[in-house]
Amino acid sequence: MRKKLVVGNWKMHGSRAANAALLSGLKELGPWSADVAVCVPFPYLAETALALTGQAVGLGAQDCSAFEQGAYTGEVSSAMLADLGCRYVIVGHSERRAYHHESDQLVADKAKAALAHGVTPIVCVGETLAEREAGQTEAVVKRQLAAVIHTLTHCIGEIVLAYEPVWAIGTGLTATPEQAQAVHAVLRKQLHAATQKSDAMRILYGGSVKPDNALQLFAQPDIDGGLIGGAALKAADFAAICRAAH
Ligand code: PEP
Repeated sequence: MRKKLVVGNWKMHGSRAANAALLSGLKELGPWSADVAVCVPFPYLAETALALTGQAVGLGAQDCSAFEQGAYTGEVSSAMLADLGCRYVIVGHSERRAYHHESDQLVADKAKAALAHGVTPIVCVGETLAEREAGQTEAVVKRQLAAVIHTLTHCIGEIVLAYEPVWAIGTGLTATPEQAQAVHAVLRKQLHAATQKSDAMRILYGGSVKPDNALQLFAQPDIDGGLIGGAALKAADFAAICRAAH
């Protein structure tokens, strides 16, 4: 039995005051039986780590460098994330793949760098609307995951995978539980061929998860929780989604 995981992706939102209000709201509404984490913008990691002291909510970042250290202006290493107490880092979010032209290989290298410092990468895969309509969903997600499997080899069992159809992110369009489950099953099968740990690995769904659709999504056999964007910015909504993951 896999313990569910719900991760809030704050993206480029927040301020010190807004974060404090959100985190204290979560403190009042928790704890939950699922594992819960928030992935916050880099400048707020240290303060969020302090605010979460003594709470069961894990800390995460939204990206990391593939490099260890050095002359990479603007980059943040996974060693730095570990130093700040991060348990998770999102890699390969579709917004980074699209706006920063991150390749499958770069995403895999970032996942490897994170694992090297004990930070669990939450590796995102997902197809665009055009790819879905062209019947390429399976091929796209399998290609994205294959690069990670190839790069991490025997460590692949240590990642968290997130299926995030690009057409469902921030659009209000959610994959139906059946659509999501079908892709999760494909991904689980691919993981199964790569590692004996596949049954223990968590595959999250992300894409317009809300309090009113979370329960049905999380009831699917291969959906082990969610990666939550917009709804993670409201304490009551995020808490309701965390409650739905049991
Ligand atoms: C995300 O950014 O990972 C995401 C799933 O966003 P939203 O929940 O807003 O669709």
